[in-house]
Amino acid sequence: MEHTYEVLESDLQMALERNEFRVYYQPKLHLVSGKIIGVESLIRWEHPIQGLLSPDKFIPLAEKTGLIVPIGEWVLRTACIQMKEWQKVGMQSLFLSVNLSVLQLYQPDFVDCVRQIFAETEFSSKYIAFEITESMMMDEEKVLPTLMGLKRLGVQISLDDFGTGFSSLRYLREFPIDRIKIDRSFIRYCTTDLNDTAIVKSIIAMAQQLKLVVIAEGIETRDHLIFLQHHFCNIGQGYLFSKPIPAEELLQCRDQIEQIVIREGIPQAVNYHDFLENEIEKARQDLRDTMRLQQGLIFKIKREDDKFIHTLCDGELLHKLGLIPEQVVGKELKDFIPEKAANEITSYYELAWKGQENVIFEREINDIYYISSLRPIHRGGQVTEVIGSSMNISERKKAEELERQSLLLVNR
Ligand code: C2E
Ligand code: MG
Ligand code: MG
Repeated sequence: MEHTYEVLESDLQMALERNEFRVYYQPKLHLVSGKIIGVESLIRWEHPIQGLLSPDKFIPLAEKTGLIVPIGEWVLRTACIQMKEWQKVGMQSLFLSVNLSVLQLYQPDFVDCVRQIFAETEFSSKYIAFEITESMMMDEEKVLPTLMGLKRLGVQISLDDFGTGFSSLRYLREFPIDRIKIDRSFIRYCTTDLNDTAIVKSIIAMAQQLKLVVIAEGIETRDHLIFLQHHFCNIGQGYLFSKPIPAEELLQCRDQIEQIVIREGIPQAVNYHDFLENEIEKARQDLRDTMRLQQGLIFKIKREDDKFIHTLCDGELLHKLGLIPEQVVGKELKDFIPEKAANEITSYYELAWKGQENVIFEREINDIYYISSLRPIHRGGQVTEVIGSSMNISERKKAEELERQSLLLVNR
């Protein structure tokens, strides 16, 4: 065991000396315009025998042995040089994200080292974010000064794999965080698992409230993309757009990648707020139509200054009773039916308002018999409104009446 460990450690050392590491780049896309706005650098090891190795095969060992410090420095320098190249070919505002290891943050001279690399490569700190994870922030005293130092250089700090670590919201309050990346484990089932749906929506909403940039990682399907667009997550990365690829390939595939959001996502022509407004209006109209066309009658009441005011009312039965919603909504009973009947019905409203379930009463207006049932709606332990539904029972009443009369005839 010890033997293998030694070999790998020296392997890593040698890999660094022999320049066997590669930096791959995964594009980050603007989910509205579809443009590539940034890249994340992800290390690979071109092993002479094993072939291309992914970071999980060697990063843990690099961290254990401390070699992650020089390896991380190499990644940063390589990526900064590459960014300068891209800037020269017209990708001026491309943004770079570089993953850090906690060990790098523990180095007392890390901020100086980063400053040095920026100076050397002439790369501006305003185009870079360092990705850290929640677990790295546990040793606050060691990490916070470094993060503050990095912030002073002008870089951004991004919280990677958000939601999987020790997601203490305190970090968001006390650490200089600019961006959060929703972990791909939440994205995977965000359209099919209602818990994940809620989590992703909440993270997006929280990030927006905190004025943080929010990025979704692991976008693999069109459904993921559309879901995120609907919920205003504006930046994303994932296999749907591109895997991490070598720099040259990114330049070649750029146009193709930038077609994907346009092809697969919500049409670009509509601005998302308009889209959403439109959807809400459609849903409202649908609800109005359904309410209007259902055979019965649905209404809601609220108590305002000791009056029961109808806040909503519609349905075929209402129209059969010779009323229209405008005569009812915003009004109390006595505004549209005789006072005596109004008082009687109000006593049922009172019962429901006190919290009684299943308050049921029957009435007759203009030869139409109907039955109503009331349900109190509680919020924070209090009844805040009462929902009522009524059904036309005239046919049944007539049948009963006929039956009663024929019985009377028989008995006579
Ligand atoms: P990470 O920073 O969370 O990087 C995202 C990982 O998710 C990458 O794996 C990427 O290839 C993968 N990924 C991206 N989109 C998708 C997708 O749609 N579906 C799936 N299933 N996966 C996707 P990768 O490149 O193997 O990197 C794994 C981890 O290794 C990274 O996670 C990061 O923590 C670490 N790492 C990579 N490069 C470096 C580095 O230069 N320094 C340090 N310290 N860590 C690094
Ligand atoms: Mg990352
Ligand atoms: Mg991640």
